[in-house]
Amino acid sequence: MAYDKPLPVPNAESKPYWEGCKAHQLLLQTCDACGHAQLYPRSLCTQCQGESLSWRPSSGQGTVYSFTVVRRAPSQAFKQDLPYVIAIVEVEGGVRMMTNIIGCTPEEVQMGMPVRVVFDDVSQEISLPKFEPVK
Ligand SMILES: [Zn+2]
Repeated sequence: MAYDKPLPVPNAESKPYWEGCKAHQLLLQTCDACGHAQLYPRSLCTQCQGESLSWRPSSGQGTVYSFTVVRRAPSQAFKQDLPYVIAIVEVEGGVRMMTNIIGCTPEEVQMGMPVRVVFDDVSQEISLPKFEPVK
């Protein structure tokens, strides 16, 4: 069945990030000058305006910073997933990312819960980083 939810469209700055996801590796754009990691990817460091940025692999470990449970689908395509969790995960290495928590019920999700990245291969080009509880 065709994937009918919105998909990211990689651009020049985010292409390495999405290529990493496709290879099931979470990459963090990191400043060579000050070490700051940032998400979403940009052409400059948001801390020191440095232009030299590198892609470094993340451990993929993190903790739930905040979350909400979605019980009303924003479109038909999401109905089958209800209820589902949208969360902000604090990823080891210094970025927070919006994602889904999967692999458990919404009732099991807690702030501060340790999670690890898993990749959902939703199309030929795109794999979405999601997180599951560390058990
Ligand atoms: Zn910097």
